[in-house]
Amino acid sequence: MMNSKEPINQNSSTNPSKRPLVEIDKPTTLIGTLVAIDHTSLCYRVCSVCEKTLSDNTNACKYCNFKNSFNPGSSGSRRLFRVLMSIATDKQVFVVIMFDRAARVLFGCSADEFFDFAKTHPFAAVTASKALEGEMLRVTLSQPKNGNAQHLRVVSVVPLRSGFQSAIETLRELY
Ligand SMILES: [Zn+2]
Repeated sequence: MMNSKEPINQNSSTNPSKRPLVEIDKPTTLIGTLVAIDHTSLCYRVCSVCEKTLSDNTNACKYCNFKNSFNPGSSGSRRLFRVLMSIATDKQVFVVIMFDRAARVLFGCSADEFFDFAKTHPFAAVTASKALEGEMLRVTLSQPKNGNAQHLRVVSVVPLRSGFQSAIETLRELY
């Protein structure tokens, strides 16, 4: 019998005495429940030409000299999903980061579409996160290539519930 009295540790780095949650050098697939999504930051902006991250409040990309300043109305940037979430298996809880391609599976739209929807529906991010929490998922995780990244990365995600609805579908029904 498993008796898990351990508190859920949202941040594995606060507990250095423990071994890393997963030690993997190639992608690992597991089945778990989506416990929580950090709805305060679901996406980030990138240059629409080179896809490098843009700092806030600017459309001018310093990497490829994409000159957008002459024409501020044109779109020099687009949004990509970057979602921090925790997934519980029967043994442990992982905090993982999910980028655009995988996140679209759960959200059912592009980050720009989601952001546009959220502009007119202020609680969309919270509602979407709540709607996805509790979903059973098959996720493939990999160690981040960037040595400084703290979180395992979701390479792919497959919702397992037969009646699964993407977040945007749920939102369109609600609003
Ligand atoms: Zn660029």
